[in-house]
Amino acid sequence: MERQTPIYLDHAATTCVRPEVLEAMLPYFSTWYGNASCTYGLGQASRDALEGARGAVAEVLRCRPREVVFTGGGTEADNLALVGVARALAERGRHIVTSAVEHHAVLHTARALSEEGWRVTVLPVDGDGRVDPADVDDAIEAGTVLVSVMHANNEVGTVQPVAEIGAACRRRGVLFHTDAVQTFGHLPTRVAELNCDLLSISAHKLYGPKGVGALYVRKGVRPAPIQHGGRQERGLRPSTENVAGIVGLGVAARLAAEEMESEIKRQSALRDGLIGRLLALPDVRLNGHPEHRLPNNVNVSAAGVEGEALNLRMGLAGIGTSTGSACTTGSPAPSHVLTAMGIEEPWLSGNLRLTLGRETRPEQLEAAARAYADIVAELRAASPNYRPGSPG
Ligand code: PLP
Repeated sequence: MERQTPIYLDHAATTCVRPEVLEAMLPYFSTWYGNASCTYGLGQASRDALEGARGAVAEVLRCRPREVVFTGGGTEADNLALVGVARALAERGRHIVTSAVEHHAVLHTARALSEEGWRVTVLPVDGDGRVDPADVDDAIEAGTVLVSVMHANNEVGTVQPVAEIGAACRRRGVLFHTDAVQTFGHLPTRVAELNCDLLSISAHKLYGPKGVGALYVRKGVRPAPIQHGGRQERGLRPSTENVAGIVGLGVAARLAAEEMESEIKRQSALRDGLIGRLLALPDVRLNGHPEHRLPNNVNVSAAGVEGEALNLRMGLAGIGTSTGSACTTGSPAPSHVLTAMGIEEPWLSGNLRLTLGRETRPEQLEAAARAYADIVAELRAASPNYRPGSPG
């Protein structure tokens, strides 16, 4: 199989490590290989680099550096937030609230907690994938210790009203966690504006390395560690720090913040152009909120085609796309996100996600739109069920 994908439109799945990030990381594999807990020069060089990266992440979140806990990725940050808070506050109550469209890193963690005796309320979303802050307020009860609602959805790109949700949690004295893996470095994520107490990020979604992320933990909040070992990361995440990876996250965060405003404008315009082209095709609809949407996300459904087949054919045409989230690609189950949004056949299985990045150019999107139109037409011609103009 051809391993190169000339047109990469799957930036929500992962991004390349940008050259400036790689260059900053390299010395920490060899020249500066010290353990950041050691007191001699080599160790202190690693410690300085670690604290520099912590400062860079804190700058983007507008929080104190001490409130940033480095983790082994977004999934681990989500686990630490949910399990850590649930366990720390178990005496106070054993009820948590989340939404039906969360990434599995949150949903499956909540499910694991429910198997250990916590009660979990999973909130519904509207047809665009948004949670109603009033539903959050209604779901909070005396024993609620945590609400977790993502900042933006990885599949359909819908941005949640997190500031309002966070405000409701504050009023009710309940901690609020948001999974900002898809927004950190792409949209403003100032923790005071989001009214959150905990927030997860992951480096590989913003041109940093895989396997490194962070959890913002507001001063005064103390989750229980979910791993046991040394005193690294204030005892919240024991294990010798991944210095090179963390340096990469810091540089990626700084560069993303510098470019954020211009990239939001540029990518939103490209996104809207692509959406316009795809919706001009017969029996194609947009999934996710038309306005409260990630600047780089296009998620459309075509009646009369199987999204999996379409996705494979796009790949063969040299265009990297995705059905639903990368984590569920290959699984025959329909997307839990689209299902929660009430989307039914034929739209449910005919969906495709195209996510743009900083290297995406208009001509690539034109080529992708042409390939999409051709492949959809071919698949429909081969489908016994599709009749133009009467999807379903
Ligand atoms: N949360 C969201 C919204 C994501 O999109 C992802 C990655 O796909 C994760 C969590 C998991 O992050 P990581 O791959 O760093 O574990």
